[in-house]
Amino acid sequence: MRTRDARLAEQRRAHRDAVMAAFGAALPELPAVDIPGILAKARADKRIALRNLAGHLSDHPDALSSGSPRCPVVIVRLAHVLHAAGYRDVVRPGCAGCGKVTHDLPRSGPDGRLCQSASENSRTGRRVMPGLWRDSRYD
Ligand SMILES: [Zn+2]
Repeated sequence: MRTRDARLAEQRRAHRDAVMAAFGAALPELPAVDIPGILAKARADKRIALRNLAGHLSDHPDALSSGSPRCPVVIVRLAHVLHAAGYRDVVRPGCAGCGKVTHDLPRSGPDGRLCQSASENSRTGRRVMPGLWRDSRYD
């Protein structure tokens, strides 16, 4: 009978292997020995971030070159770290609301990640309620 810790360690290893394979395919010029440092710098090496990263890269192998804002926040952090490390083929996702390229895309909207101000604009904007107009700022 396996313990919970052994199971978690195994999942972590599987996620790490999936990420290493995805990096090998997407960024063959990135030395494998550099990957753990890149992941740590992007805070992508912890359990949930690593799992989100592995899952997203397996569903979207082009996630680091597409610049799509429809991604978990770990992809945004990773794209910025890789870009700063000189991997210029890596496209940093822009805000789905205003297009701004920033590492700070904390919210998720219907079209992808949003910066703080785009997120606030969509939250405070006028919206139609049944039978009336109202300003949601006063909610
Ligand atoms: Zn924005």
